[in-house]
Amino acid sequence: MSTFVEEPARRTALLGEWEVIVLGGGPSGVAAATAAARAGRDTLLVEKGGYLGGAGTGGGLSTFCGMFSNVHGEHVLTVRGHATELLERIDRLGGLRAPHLSFGDRIQAQAYDIPAYRSAADEHVLSAGATLLYHAFAVGALVDDGRLDGVVVESKSGRGVLRAQVFIDCSGDGDLLQWTGAGHEKADPSTDMLFPSTMFRINAVDGKRAGPAWKTLPRMMDEAVAAGRPRFPRRGAIVRPQRDDLEWRANATQLRNPDGTPVDGTDVWQLTHGEVQGRAQAQEVFGFIRDNVPGFEKSYIVDIGPEIGIRETRRLIGRYILTEDDVRSCARFDDSIGLNGWPVEAHVDGDLDIRWPYGDDPVGYNQLPYRMLVPASGPANLLVAGRCASMTHGGQSAARVSGPCFAMGQAAGTAAHLALKDQGAVADVDAAELRTELESEDACLTL
Ligand SMILES: Cc1cc2nc3c(=O)[nH]c(=O)nc-3n(C[C@H](O)[C@H](O)[C@H](O)COP(=O)(O)OP(=O)(O)OC[C@H]3O[C@@H](n4cnc5c(N)ncnc54)[C@H](O)[C@@H]3O)c2cc1C
Repeated sequence: MSTFVEEPARRTALLGEWEVIVLGGGPSGVAAATAAARAGRDTLLVEKGGYLGGAGTGGGLSTFCGMFSNVHGEHVLTVRGHATELLERIDRLGGLRAPHLSFGDRIQAQAYDIPAYRSAADEHVLSAGATLLYHAFAVGALVDDGRLDGVVVESKSGRGVLRAQVFIDCSGDGDLLQWTGAGHEKADPSTDMLFPSTMFRINAVDGKRAGPAWKTLPRMMDEAVAAGRPRFPRRGAIVRPQRDDLEWRANATQLRNPDGTPVDGTDVWQLTHGEVQGRAQAQEVFGFIRDNVPGFEKSYIVDIGPEIGIRETRRLIGRYILTEDDVRSCARFDDSIGLNGWPVEAHVDGDLDIRWPYGDDPVGYNQLPYRMLVPASGPANLLVAGRCASMTHGGQSAARVSGPCFAMGQAAGTAAHLALKDQGAVADVDAAELRTELESEDACLTL
């Protein structure tokens, strides 16, 4: 049971006022801030780290998933708009590999260099005219008369309040949702929370000798366990080359508490346990790869993700809740603001379970409705984008990846602009007008 102490009342500095504040600089936050600023809105992007990209950089991911859909067997770029420009910036820095086929060659993904993503994202957001505030950890919110008035941040400069007219929660964990009392739910660790992972990258690989080791390694791991080796943290390891075949990334760990439940990204003690466990697992899996996979004999770990990668915590209960059935039946919506072509990628206990759209020849993508960004209850000036948007556990297991997060972010930033223009609630934004605005910025809303 928690005990509490009373803190003395104190005055808090007002650090500034903006039209739009975006909390969190992952793919959804980058896209949201860029869209709001490009629409001419005075926009602040608040991030607790010292760089953008969210889990895509701080979690050490290094692959864009969900940019493409497998449409009747053809790989089509279905997330465009501002994200395309960001990828072009990464490419100009020499940090983008050509797309590759993944998951039994059914879907395309694209590897990138993390430093290039960080630099490109700085340029992308700042050139749109947004202001960045790094090293600012949001710790609370001020709600007044049904409206979110300010977000409270802590930093090396002390505690302060940032005010705005519209806020967009892109924190991944739905921190603003929680503080404002907007309706939300949290994945249940005992039944359906996706397991987190620590990512790592391997250097000095002899790419020619390694060949398509990503196909042979999972089988080698299964055979080793069948022969008596202790189980790996999980089956279905994803180990693939980066931009140069010298360097490979590994998505092969799975973080659990002593009772077997997934590490909860909203619990600081569990996060600490997960960081330590993740690094230990990375070393363990790497040791097996180095000692068994041709081409890896002289390799070493060049980087372990600075933070463990959290896949799922809080999710908005919005005006629409995207379900697994929507994803797998390739659902369409009149208020579509973007597309998701990624399958359900469920990181379940000890394994990876991929569930594809139904049928032999599916359309291959579902639409994302604007209503999944709009709280069903809570402040009238709050939007939510990214992995904490309104989705069931199964829907989120698909649409949480970078591509749909970019799409949701661009839509949320544009919707914030429209709500300000009409001086209305975000729920009253005209979806047809929003779609027209998004299409004028080359977003892909349908095929
Ligand atoms: C291990 C792992 C592997 C994955 N692999 C892939 C992959 O290969 N390809 C892919 O496309 N996707 C992958 N994903 C999924 C994808 O990266 C994320 O779901 C995606 O980044 C979510 O984007 P987001 O913008 O919603 O949030 P996030 O990327 O989680 O970003 C949230 C941001 O908000 C900041 N923040 C949070 N709280 C606060 C606060 N209180 N104050 C200030 N800042 C705050 C965080 O620092 C962070 O920068 C993976 C996820 C994990 C965990």
